Amino acid sequence: MEVKQCEFCRAPFQSLGNRLCGDCHAQLDEDFIMIREYLYENEGAGIEEVSEETGVPRKIILYLLKEERLTVSGEKGGGILVCESCKRPINTGRMCGRCKKEVVTAMQENIAPVSRPKRRPEKMEEEESIKGVAKLQVK
Ligand SMILES: [Zn+2]
Ligand SMILES: [Zn+2]
Repeated sequence: MEVKQCEFCRAPFQSLGNRLCGDCHAQLDEDFIMIREYLYENEGAGIEEVSEETGVPRKIILYLLKEERLTVSGEKGGGILVCESCKRPINTGRMCGRCKKEVVTAMQENIAPVSRPKRRPEKMEEEESIKGVAKLQVK
């Protein structure tokens, strides 16, 4: 067994390959079920509403989004999540489809992504204006 740091609460724990400690794992599962049930009955609810009505902290909802267990709909996901690589708004997960593909290609070709010609960053829309249109969905 390996001692790892829990990805959620940062506490060290004995890991069997999992990224969350037992407590967080159980908590997140429980919260996920609660959110899923709430969304079945309240289709199109936003993060704020879900957080308030279920009592699940935003932090957990964001984590579930990054884990691709939840997704946000709406134009560019309302700017709630951004790609960890190119900072473009995404609807779920940690990276946009393009960057994910690039990482896979880079690994397959064994080329460091930094050696590639730099892409011109695409102009970001004003995020403020699209916030609030995002609706949570169960993947
Ligand atoms: Zn934990
Ligand atoms: Zn990206």
